[in-house]
Amino acid sequence: MIPAKGYAANGPKDKLKPFNFERRELLPDEILIDILYCGVCHSDIHQVRNEWGSTRYPIVPGHEIVGKVIKTGSEVSKFKVGDIAGVGCLVDSCRTCSYCQKGLEQYCKNGNVATYNSTDKRDGTNTYGGYSSAIVVPQEFALTISPDLSLEKVAPLLCAGITTYSPLRHWNVKEGSKVGVVGLGGLGHMAVKLASSFGAEVTMISTTPSKEADAKKLGAAHFLYSKDKQQLASKAGYFDYIVDTVSAAHNYMDYLSMLNTDGIMICVGAPPSAVEISPFNLIGKRRSLVGSLIGGLPETQEMLDYCAKHNITSEVEVIPVHKINEAYERMMKGDVKYRFVIDMKTL
Ligand code: NAP
Ligand code: ZN
Ligand code: ZN
Repeated sequence: MIPAKGYAANGPKDKLKPFNFERRELLPDEILIDILYCGVCHSDIHQVRNEWGSTRYPIVPGHEIVGKVIKTGSEVSKFKVGDIAGVGCLVDSCRTCSYCQKGLEQYCKNGNVATYNSTDKRDGTNTYGGYSSAIVVPQEFALTISPDLSLEKVAPLLCAGITTYSPLRHWNVKEGSKVGVVGLGGLGHMAVKLASSFGAEVTMISTTPSKEADAKKLGAAHFLYSKDKQQLASKAGYFDYIVDTVSAAHNYMDYLSMLNTDGIMICVGAPPSAVEISPFNLIGKRRSLVGSLIGGLPETQEMLDYCAKHNITSEVEVIPVHKINEAYERMMKGDVKYRFVIDMKTL
């Protein structure tokens, strides 16, 4: 076994605290990564606090991982010791179902294995994530990362980046598309950067007026203050797409009414509570309300390569690991520009 250190929570009201555990020995197709940086996603908060009702404790969160390969199994060909590698939200899947065959491992019919709070198919234990010193992962589930990029700014691409890139590509956001992005946090700021890089006209829709200047620097052409219903009403029927990245309960109907005929509202934000929708908000203009879950391995690599080529990375605030509980409180207040990333060497 490989000794590892991390930060874990033991219950929904518990703070994250230092935690010693073991990673299992590498199987022939696996690599051992010494973790350098791990981003802090709002899904970590939802799960630490058991807001989705599926948490097994202790939980070691973290699925925006970048680090250095320090050991390789005997059959590994994709990486060598010293390479930089990334791990996102998935560490395994059945690899045989029709979705896995298409590289859509996130929709694996037999259940994907999430990087944390999931059952490791190989030994049946609970998976532990990236708020830790090291991780063992099959080579197919590790991503290749250019060592020339600022690694702390790349880490958030592994979840916030792919979660916004995948639906923008799937629903064909392109030059001239009118895109509204709701919520300027980790996912929201990547949605603005990516959609504007595809040539879309992006409008930031936010509860925080002081974020307007930043939204424009990130690539938004316009800004709407979502608590001002008149501002929202002025854009009724305007957007081809709305990407909703909000983490807390909110009114979806306010945003649906801003879609044009055939407009698509893409939910990536995952508030725990059910939402109310009137069919009339969909019927009259043949609108669609859709959802999207992270992205598969091939598309995650495509996104990383696209970001490297176009010099797109995340805006980050690097923190030492002992500030993680404070970082959660700040994220709950929307006080992050625009992703916390833990320097794992502070562990
Ligand atoms: P985050 O950094 O905390 O950002 C969320 C943003 O939502 C905030 O910055 C804020 O933006 C807005 N917001 C917060 N409370 C709000 C409220 N009550 N009403 C309206 N807006 C509110 O979170 P994140 O890491 O980007 O994650 C966002 C959500 O996506 C989470 O629910 C997370 O679990 C989910 N997620 C889903 C996937 C997927 O595969 N679908 C993947 C990753 C994350 P403003 O200040 O601009 O209003
Ligand atoms: Zn995430
Ligand atoms: Zn599968």
